Amino acid sequence: MEERKVVLVTGGSRGIGKEVAEVYADNGYDVAINYVSDKTDVEGIKKEFEGKGVKCLLVKGDVSKAEDVQNMVEEVISEFGKIDVLVNNAGITRDCLLMRMSEEDFDKVIEINLKGTYLVTKAVTKYMMKKRQGSIINLASVVGVVGNAGQANYSASKAGIIGFTKSVAKELASRNIRANAVAPGFIATDMTSVLKDEVKEHINSQIPLKRMGTAREVAEVIYFLGSDKSSYVTGQVINIDGGMVM
Ligand code: NAP
Repeated sequence: MEERKVVLVTGGSRGIGKEVAEVYADNGYDVAINYVSDKTDVEGIKKEFEGKGVKCLLVKGDVSKAEDVQNMVEEVISEFGKIDVLVNNAGITRDCLLMRMSEEDFDKVIEINLKGTYLVTKAVTKYMMKKRQGSIINLASVVGVVGNAGQANYSASKAGIIGFTKSVAKELASRNIRANAVAPGFIATDMTSVLKDEVKEHINSQIPLKRMGTAREVAEVIYFLGSDKSSYVTGQVINIDGGMVM
């Protein structure tokens, strides 16, 4: 029997991350799910995934803390022996106009979204390099490309992720490790549920496909980027946004 592949998804307890983990489990991957709080029933998710006939490891830790990341990656390696695909999904928003944005809100978003992506990628890459194989997918956002009023911190973190992804793709291509980013637009998750209905309606009217995307629609593209079907794709940013940015 062929050895099962392994995916590590950061922020896999809710929203896009949970759906990404599910798509990989549906396709026969063993799944390691990172999360930081006890907001969701992660044990329930583990049971659900194991019902699909794959293994599921829960690894609690804050991606912005080097020690947590080190422990998390070592735990995944000691359980599964390898990581074939890394999805850097964990992310937060602290939206506010620049004039009112505190230094703390700026730093927090950069630390979790951008520095977290750096820390986890660095820790996982060590093992991917030994195997001379791997695929890394980072969650950027369309606002990292076009900007957004009220999201200077978040947009900067996502633009940073795009530069980071391209640099890593260039550094690691010779080791047969690919790195790509996805830039979702407006996706229905907890992150966007806080928006008022009239704001949602306005955004929908600006989207050529006239609706929000689903977490599954993002997860399917991420699955493609992790798989051998995209073996000649690296250093790219794929928009998943119903045509918002073209
Ligand atoms: P979400 O529903 O708010 O879920 C965020 C996830 O990140 C949760 O699993 C959360 O874990 C985890 N997380 C937060 N801080 C963390 C930390 N310090 N360490 C580890 N995990 C942490 O968000 P989402 O909408 O699914 O977004 C997922 C990614 O897609 C983010 O990077 C986001 O920026 C990006 N994105 C989303 C949209 C959108 O419209 N939704 C658009 C573009 C890009 P807990 O459950 O433990 O809190």
